Formats: sequence, structure tokens, C-alpha cells
Amino acid sequence: MPIAHTPRTAVVTGAGSRRGIGRATAHALAAGGYHIAVLDLDKEAAEDTARDVAARHGVEALGLAADVTAPEAVDAAITAVEAALPPVGALVNNAGITSPTRFLDVTPAEWDRIFDVNVRGGFLVTHRVAAGMAERGFGRIVFLSSVSAERGGGVFGGVAYSAAKAALLGFARSLARELGPFGVTVNSVAPGLIDTDITQGKLGDERRAALIADVPVRRIGEVEDVADVIAFLTRPESGYVTGATYDVNGGVHIH
Ligand code: NAD
Repeated sequence: MPIAHTPRTAVVTGAGSRRGIGRATAHALAAGGYHIAVLDLDKEAAEDTARDVAARHGVEALGLAADVTAPEAVDAAITAVEAALPPVGALVNNAGITSPTRFLDVTPAEWDRIFDVNVRGGFLVTHRVAAGMAERGFGRIVFLSSVSAERGGGVFGGVAYSAAKAALLGFARSLARELGPFGVTVNSVAPGLIDTDITQGKLGDERRAALIADVPVRRIGEVEDVADVIAFLTRPESGYVTGATYDVNGGVHIH
């Protein structure tokens, strides 16, 4: 059993996706005692996750439509969260998009889109909630980076995606220094290939088998593998872990 918490809310972005890391994370954080706010482009999906989380864990949960790249939308969503739920104690910057486009084929528009969702989105939501966390003297912020950032590209991550996910590592490390004195930790999780819809069914059986053969633990990751580590990082007890990157990749990249 988790220890009883001060009532606090965890904001999880991009947690609408039914088979996604965000939804599994919302469940894991609720199991750890957080009330949950889901922000997603897809309103119905966000509401569905919130209903599911509230029903399964008996916490308060709110699902809201918000494009994390739009400052007004982020502000409106967090304002609604602050009005309806206990103070925000955790933020998981999970909303993200990928692209396998080879560098020589990447257009400036595609580059910007990848950076907008992964980096600007993380900036806007973090910026909106960080002041309140610092004021209250407690916060747990987690960024979803990727093994692509560490090893130079991934199965579905091209240069733009890898660069954006690497930007998040620098973001998290420097923010950890700034917010540490206020009781706010900032960490990153770098998953390897996880079985979700981000790959849009593009992984054929043969490719899948070849990829698995390359993973020391001999399987593709599950969303719960990642959610569990995020839940650990957001615990009140994890206050001495900050500026760290946790690999959740089955050993496919060891450094
Ligand atoms: P997913 O595609 O299943 O879910 C992503 C969610 O983000 C969707 O619900 C989508 O609606 C939402 N979203 C997209 N753009 C948004 C925006 N502008 N504003 C708000 N919400 C938006 O993806 P996933 O596989 O669960 O990935 C979650 C995170 O983990 C991403 O940041 C991804 O880059 C990262 N990651 C995934 C893997 C993997 O193999 N699945 C590996 C490493 C890192």
C-alpha cells in the first residue's frame, strides 16, 4: 500500500491514447495516491481516460482537451484543473509525436512540428505549473525522452525526433538545478521501443522479431514498464532523485 498522501493532482499530457504510455501512467499515479488531470488533443479520449482512472482507483480525475503547443489552451486547461482538483503536485510531459523521416527529406515544417509538440509543449505546460509547485514547496516533473536521443535515432525516431528528445534531457537537467531548492524534482525517462499506437501499425512481424532479438530481455516494452518508473519518480519519497535519466529499454542501449 502506498503511504497516505497530502491530496495532490498529477497532470499527465497526452494520456488520451488508449494503448499509450500516458494512460498507463495516469493509472499508475492514481494507484500511488494522486488525483489525475489528463490533457490531450483528443477531448473524448481524455475524458475516457479520466472516467476509467476514477472508476478503477477511486480518485478524482478530469479529462480536458488541450493542444500543448498552444499557450492559451494550456493556460485554460490548467486553470480548470486548479479550480476543480487539489493542487498540482506532479506533471508528466508525455504528449509527443514521432517521425522516422530521413534527415535529407525533412522539411522545415516537419522539423518545427516535431519540436513544437515534444519541446515547446513540454515548455508551456511545465512553465504554467512550475511556479505553483515552487510556491508550495513540492513538485515532481517527468519528461518523456527516448532511447533515440541517447543512441542517435531509434526504430521510428529520425533526426528531428532524436534532437527534440535530446533537448528534453538538457531541459530537465537544468530545470532540476533551478527548482531543486523549492522541493521540485525534474527527471527524464528514456524508453526503448514500447508497444503503443505511436508506431501506427508500421511494425511488421519480421521486423518485430529482428528487433526483439536485439533486446537483451527479449521482448518489446509494455506501457506498464514505463508507467511504473514514472510512478516511482513522482512519489513524495523520491525527493533525492533529480536531474536523472531513467532508461526503460530492456537493455537495448546500455551506457
Ligand atoms: P501515443 O501516440 O500512443 O500517445 C500520444 C498522445 O499524445 C496521444 O493521445 C495524442 O493525442 C497526444 N498528443 C499528440 N500531440 C498532442 C498535442 N499537441 N497536445 C496534446 N496532446 C497531444 O504515444 P506513446 O507511444 O504512448 O508515447 C508517449 C510518449 O512517450 C511520447 O512523448 C513518445 O515520444 C514517448 N516515447 C514513446 C516510445 C514508444 O516506443 N512508444 C519510445 C520512447 C518514447
